[in-house]
Amino acid sequence: MLYHNQCNGSRPTATSVSGPFSSAGAGDVFEQTPGRDRFKDYLESNGLKLTGQRQRILRVFMRQQEPMSAENILAAAGGAESGISLSTLYRALNHLQCAGLARRIQLGAGSALYEAVHGHCCQLVCEKCGRRIPVSNPYLESMREVAARQEGFELHHCTAQFYGLCPSCQQARDIEKSRSTTPAT
Ligand SMILES: [Zn+2]
Repeated sequence: MLYHNQCNGSRPTATSVSGPFSSAGAGDVFEQTPGRDRFKDYLESNGLKLTGQRQRILRVFMRQQEPMSAENILAAAGGAESGISLSTLYRALNHLQCAGLARRIQLGAGSALYEAVHGHCCQLVCEKCGRRIPVSNPYLESMREVAARQEGFELHHCTAQFYGLCPSCQQARDIEKSRSTTPAT
């Protein structure tokens, strides 16, 4: 499917609410993609860019209603014609998992499905270098569910940030410390 900007031409019909967003301006669609900011932040904090292919994968992925196989996600993103290879897709899915936007469901025999994660976001934030590491942990997920339930609270989404030092900043600190505590002989 091509994503021409058709703003000057015929507009999408008002009845196509559940349609696949094919007729809207491509720029608008990218801006509205859920998780786009979080994905961009994650990529940038790891020295990567939100490329056109990654945006396309993100858009298709976040709009899915049910867990999908990598092959189906690739097909939905335009298949081989889109220029996205299966290995590019797997790398993007890996980044999406690291960014806390995707969950991998292992089906056995090497096959897996991927589902979009909306709303919940926990991050480890390094106070030294600012690196952000998204964490996806079943204990954290059940903890917040339990905490909400205890208060009779209906949980919609949650964000949590844990501040500290990333491994490389700890290492740098320890090297610094060992230098300054080495007795001068
Ligand atoms: Zn750090």
